Amino acid sequence: MSADRPAPPGGAVDPVAALRRIAFLLERRLADTYRIKAYRGAAATLLPLGAEHVAARARAGTLRELPGIGAKTASIVEEFVTTGVPAYLSELEKTAGPLVEGGAEYAAALRGDLHSHSDWSDGGSPIEEMAMTAMELGHEYLVLTDHSPRLTVANGLSSARLAQQLEVVDAVNGHLGGDDFRLLKGIEVDILDDGSLDQTDTMLERLDVVVASVHSKLAMEAAAMTRRMVAAVRQPRTNVLGHCTGRLVKGNRGIRKQSTFDAEAVFAACAENEVAVEINSRPERSDPPDELIEVALEAGCLFSIDSDAHAPGQLDFLQYGAERAQRLGVPLERIVTTWPRERLLGWASR
Ligand SMILES: [Zn+2]
Ligand SMILES: [Zn+2]
Repeated sequence: MSADRPAPPGGAVDPVAALRRIAFLLERRLADTYRIKAYRGAAATLLPLGAEHVAARARAGTLRELPGIGAKTASIVEEFVTTGVPAYLSELEKTAGPLVEGGAEYAAALRGDLHSHSDWSDGGSPIEEMAMTAMELGHEYLVLTDHSPRLTVANGLSSARLAQQLEVVDAVNGHLGGDDFRLLKGIEVDILDDGSLDQTDTMLERLDVVVASVHSKLAMEAAAMTRRMVAAVRQPRTNVLGHCTGRLVKGNRGIRKQSTFDAEAVFAACAENEVAVEINSRPERSDPPDELIEVALEAGCLFSIDSDAHAPGQLDFLQYGAERAQRLGVPLERIVTTWPRERLLGWASR
């Protein structure tokens, strides 16, 4: 990320940018997804029409004849066309500063994000929208990590759908062009009960980065959970151990206790296999807890500060993880997401 934070996609120069900016600012505050979708949907409708056509419709009062444009979004566009600054956007811009106090130095050192979701699984936005926002945030890369097949509640991707997604990732990179930013191929693969991974080896081999996470039977007895996690960490394609305790500390999904396991054994396996322990930045996860980050530090682990974004604005959550890592004294050198992209890819493909 650029050092002169905050640098989210600001300075709306047209109605489409204004609508996207509103969505971004709402998403980073974890606003209701349905409400946000109206803004992203309206932006998608207006984008291909061109600024002049949109302005003409705004002046004629015919925006609402378009699909996906409602009263609120139409009035925002009309206001943009007449004044250049919709009042709602100016109001939201007041919240555009840092999400958290502290951690600015670490946030500025981060180059990308290894964990994000699109609407192919349980995210709310298309792949290209996630990629564009990551690029606007100054990331060098974003790894797209939609869920694996057995996580049916999250519309996990079968091998066939994942194969299809890899082609889309190539196409998105083709469109975005340039070397400054790459969308990377990944997965958040479920750790099954026996520690095996919920995707074929052939597919895992085709990915740049593999995040492995536990999503089921979180209350498993500690010895079995330890065996399960150690086995997953030892899988040759595992690069990152995602949100390792599964706890939820707040938010609309309620509170969930952290799962119990022998942290020293699991983190020793991570250190030995060069698997990064994820510092999951989602405010409702904040996982691992401080005391486990300290155990992982002691064990000599690598770390990865990830957003686990399910919407573009949530890519900014990295600030929360950066604050924690800086406060807990995690050396920057041990955070793989501070590494240049080529080094990161070398590590992930070892
Ligand atoms: Zn997860
Ligand atoms: Zn995730």
